[in-house]
Amino acid sequence: MAPADTRTRIVWDYAPAPESADHVRLRSRYGLFIDGDFRDPVDGVRVDSINPATEEPVAEVAQAGEADLRAAIGAAREAQPRWAALDGLERGKYLFRIARLIQERARELAVVESMDGGKPVRESRDVDVPLAAAHFFHYAGWADKLSFGVGGRPATPLGVAAQIVPWNFPLLMAAWKLAPALACGNTAVLKPAETTPLTALLLAELCQEAELPAGVVQIVPGDGSVGAALVRRPGIDKVAFTGSTVVGKDIQAALAGRGVPLTLELGGKSANIVFEDAALDQAVEGIVNGIFFNQGHVCCAGSRLLVQESVADTVITKLWERMGRLRLGDPLDKNTDVGAINSAEQLARIRALVAAGEEEGASRRSVACELPDRGWWFEPTLFTEVAPAHRIAVEEIFGPVASVLTFRTQAEAIEKANNSTYGLAAGIWTDKGAKAFEVASALQAGVVWQNTYNHFDSSAAFGGYKESGFGREGGPAGLRPYLRVG
Ligand code: NDP
Repeated sequence: MAPADTRTRIVWDYAPAPESADHVRLRSRYGLFIDGDFRDPVDGVRVDSINPATEEPVAEVAQAGEADLRAAIGAAREAQPRWAALDGLERGKYLFRIARLIQERARELAVVESMDGGKPVRESRDVDVPLAAAHFFHYAGWADKLSFGVGGRPATPLGVAAQIVPWNFPLLMAAWKLAPALACGNTAVLKPAETTPLTALLLAELCQEAELPAGVVQIVPGDGSVGAALVRRPGIDKVAFTGSTVVGKDIQAALAGRGVPLTLELGGKSANIVFEDAALDQAVEGIVNGIFFNQGHVCCAGSRLLVQESVADTVITKLWERMGRLRLGDPLDKNTDVGAINSAEQLARIRALVAAGEEEGASRRSVACELPDRGWWFEPTLFTEVAPAHRIAVEEIFGPVASVLTFRTQAEAIEKANNSTYGLAAGIWTDKGAKAFEVASALQAGVVWQNTYNHFDSSAAFGGYKESGFGREGGPAGLRPYLRVG
């Protein structure tokens, strides 16, 4: 006779583990960072940057006007020839300094990132900040080896780079843009997103601390109209943009005929494909990381979950059970898995698409969790019975919402995965190496992960196909967009 099951079910309760914000050295007001100093806007305005978890202001920030943009581009132009003329080793030293200063102030940067943007501090601390430092370290090493990065051909900088970054990875995206541009001898004018300007402004302080020559980096916060004005101004030699496909197309149209090189890192609707031979528990962890990391505010989020029909019920059951253990709440609590939605506008977009999913007939389930009284939140949500034509299977939701589709054969999985206007990333879960390589080479996606998801490395290129954009960031491929190659 089998022994009686004496196990009792343990319900884990977590005591709050809030990260302290006492060590944060935030000013109450920030100016524009132009020509090595913070200054008041000439014709811009001042607005509060709001904490999405509390709806309280974090700090007041200046936004640039036309005259400010002119000054920023002027300072960048003035500084560029001297910066480019520095020996590569010298430029590299500045980047190494910035990288080390990011590490020194890592805790503070992580806390501010979570206060300003709403992401769990565990993610800011373990992903955003270390990866930002890694990008500066990586490109510091390239600064004196540029021609090796482009096949031994002569390489010169383009000039002044105008760079626009979104709100989902504010510090990391600033690092992705600034580190290669500077390593190559360009100077930069960077516009952070309206809702998350603070860590870029702290990065400006680090540039001062590193004694980076004045004019090499300008940080000019502002809304979309400031970004639109920046790319239309004369005096820029390169534009790099990360954000939505619709704005990417607008920028491309604005640059048409001007001969200004452009890189676009745009949206996605990435397929995360689970084959029946995968290690399913491991796959479920990867699915969770793929779609609930940073509340799903991730361009390469695994938002289309393609599961082989034979294991679909098992995967959905395991996933739903795992979703029930996600902790949503205070981004500064180290136990939090899902933080706040970045803005009221983004929350409205998520709600509209989720409502469309229900109206079109997909089956919705959302984790029952207590939402805080203030701030912007959305429960982790799973849609099943999704048809390929449903809006939730086609459009980027950019929130903690996964849409499950099923497939029977490998060919069908590939066809469904490629059935998208986007082509940013994909995941493949299988224990057959040959199958993973075969599927990966048939997928129209810039990044394909095997048995993992949302893994980033400063030495690996990242970028898209189709409406996910063009150009690559990271690794030696990330040098090319900032160089004129002979
Ligand atoms: P946007 O593309 O509007 O924002 C990205 C950046 O571009 C921000 O700095 C923004 O400024 C700026 N910007 C806005 N309009 C213009 C313009 N006409 N010319 C130049 N720059 C501009 O994305 P949203 O913030 O509006 O998000 C909308 C949707 O875009 C999301 O729901 C998501 O689907 C997608 N998205 C994709 C991202 C990605 O990494 N692929 C990142 C962010 C969003 P400001 O913030 O001040 O408006």
